[in-house]
Amino acid sequence: MRVLLVEDEPDLGAAIKRTLTQEAYIVDWVENGQEAWNYLESDTQYTLAIFDWLLPGLSGLELCQRLRRKSNPLPVMMLTAKDTQADKVAGLDAGADDYLVKPFGMAELLARLRALQRRSPQIQPQQLHLKNSTLDYGTRNLYQPQKSGEVVAIALTNKEFQLLEYFMRHPNQIVTRDQIFNQLWAFEAEPESNVVAAQIRLLRRKLAEHDCDLIIETVYGLGYRLMVNGC
Ligand code: CA
Repeated sequence: MRVLLVEDEPDLGAAIKRTLTQEAYIVDWVENGQEAWNYLESDTQYTLAIFDWLLPGLSGLELCQRLRRKSNPLPVMMLTAKDTQADKVAGLDAGADDYLVKPFGMAELLARLRALQRRSPQIQPQQLHLKNSTLDYGTRNLYQPQKSGEVVAIALTNKEFQLLEYFMRHPNQIVTRDQIFNQLWAFEAEPESNVVAAQIRLLRRKLAEHDCDLIIETVYGLGYRLMVNGC
């Protein structure tokens, strides 16, 4: 669940980024509309975008229009101090999916973002299934039936959840350390050489403790691969 946040008010941008990061979103925060467009045109896969209306470079409205002209369905939340009827209509006509007037509370922002995700199941499902394993976005647990028939709920940290989601979207494929790092760490993160390996070790240990169908293999010299037991 990766979010592109475009907000040029430093305090508000930092507060939103902090809140979303606590909720297991990976947040790329930029303060300039043109820079935001460069990220939207890159290979990074976003789940949601949050655009402030008035920005240096391109406005939030222009970002929305450009996305929709390219038939990009990315769900967009607009943030703005404008609250007249005409402004709301202009924002929604430009292709925004929802609209939040400043000042707003973080709880409302989170609730609206969850609603946006529910309305875009092709982009963000509520659950991800692979063989008998189910990853749940609401609880952030992995549900795994055991040989006994009992289903255990495996609680994952934010990073373990993000990592497992990435692997479950790419089963039986070799993914490189750089691919994992670039997709799961915000762009300003420093690429420490062992951070991906360390997180994978923790996730692997947790899966192994619970008789899990999912096994993360190391493919020496290439990267990692999620193998699905019995397939
Ligand atoms: Ca602004």
